[in-house]
Amino acid sequence: MEPTAQSLWDAAIESLRPLLNQEVFRLWFAPIRPVELQGDRLTLAVANEFCGVWLGENYRDVIDNALKIAAGRAISFSFVAAEISRPAPDSEGPGKLATPARDPKATIIEEIFESTNAIPNFDPKNTFDSFVVGNNTFAHAAATAVAQNPGRSYNPLFLIGGVGLGKTHLLHAIGQFVSAHRRTARVAYVSTERFTNEFIDALQNSRLMRFRKKFRETDVLLIDDIQFLSGKERIQEEFFHTFNALHEARKQIVLTCDRAASEIQGLEQRLVSRFEWGLVADLQPPDVETRVAILRKKADQMGYVIPADIAQFLAERIRTNVRRLEGALTRVASYSRLTGHPITLERLRDLLRDVLSEEGRATLTIEVIIKRVADHYDLRVADILGRRRPDHIAFPRQVAMFLARTLTESSLSTIGDAFGGRDHGTVLHACRAVADRMETDTTVRKAVSHLDRDLRG
Ligand code: ADP
Ligand code: MG
Repeated sequence: MEPTAQSLWDAAIESLRPLLNQEVFRLWFAPIRPVELQGDRLTLAVANEFCGVWLGENYRDVIDNALKIAAGRAISFSFVAAEISRPAPDSEGPGKLATPARDPKATIIEEIFESTNAIPNFDPKNTFDSFVVGNNTFAHAAATAVAQNPGRSYNPLFLIGGVGLGKTHLLHAIGQFVSAHRRTARVAYVSTERFTNEFIDALQNSRLMRFRKKFRETDVLLIDDIQFLSGKERIQEEFFHTFNALHEARKQIVLTCDRAASEIQGLEQRLVSRFEWGLVADLQPPDVETRVAILRKKADQMGYVIPADIAQFLAERIRTNVRRLEGALTRVASYSRLTGHPITLERLRDLLRDVLSEEGRATLTIEVIIKRVADHYDLRVADILGRRRPDHIAFPRQVAMFLARTLTESSLSTIGDAFGGRDHGTVLHACRAVADRMETDTTVRKAVSHLDRDLRG
């Protein structure tokens, strides 16, 4: 029998409940209402637009999975914002509004944000409690010091770290800590992109005064991904004045960036030096013990007991990005919960094929590619890097450039540099030449695919 929106959602939510932290479930999932099922499209109502965006960003995979298992086929879903007036079946009784803002803490945060006119966009999952310190004692200590004593310890605090290493997590943790402990503090969290967009918007609508007031009257300004200031002169100018106003008033500023300030291209020197006035703390990629600890902590939050061999396997294989580690864990937990089977290592490899290959891609270096291609064609690495051009060397060299381009995220000029200082035009030409020859010559196509598969592992 074809399920109704209600029966499908009921089945999905029941399987989701045990996967999620109780608090997360109560705040975010319990209030969702199914509206309509049309073919393979399910519409879900949430309290407001923000809830939809937040759920979509954080739980899309989990919801997808639960719906797929409940329906026996893929179901796409979308959120609509609606004022929900029906009582949640298992919550606080009839007639109450079942919006996610029930939590008293959440309300405080919202009020503070209202007063600074920003969106209450802290992720309740990202607190100091849920952050595994591991080998990141320094960055963690700096963040807690700032949260306990905003404006008085290190100002600014500049957190540096690669993708998925916990920069945003620590910013949210600081924000939530300050909001919880200093009820009158005005805390604002904003991504650099959003700061930029709001500025442009303010410029266009003659609302600069309001924009400035909003950011210059905060007690704690948390600003994420500052690398996006790169090359934007007007925004840098504006940010410079915001920074000065806050700093002079001894208001806390915390910035995050994926690289050192001096390495941001097109960033004014006066900003670079200001960013280094306070404390610069580097987030290190977690070591393997820390990765195991993170997995255990996250599993614990989901109410899932992760078998030791599975935790070890994941921690050893997924090294570069905690977000990816978390994604893998969610998938494993859903699999076990939804199928009722304990997961085996073999099944795990299958379930995580794409994640593991992405990870391989992230750790694969141009040097490894060059070495592998040289071996394949029975050449020396020096031949590939050298200047000689006989076809038996020039073509493998082009193949190596082509593979470097398709298998790593390196830019053309980075690849050129790694190939003995060639320019990006040479690399581009090589990539096109190889692609052309693969079209017309099956031997070439086979050789390249073989190398490609081999390198992907
Ligand atoms: P970034 O902003 O540096 O790209 P995030 O802060 O978004 O990374 O972190 C990605 C995910 O990994 C988040 O879900 C975060 O909670 C988690 N995470 C990263 N580092 C840790 C850690 N040390 N302990 C617990 N969770 C972590
Ligand atoms: Mg981030």
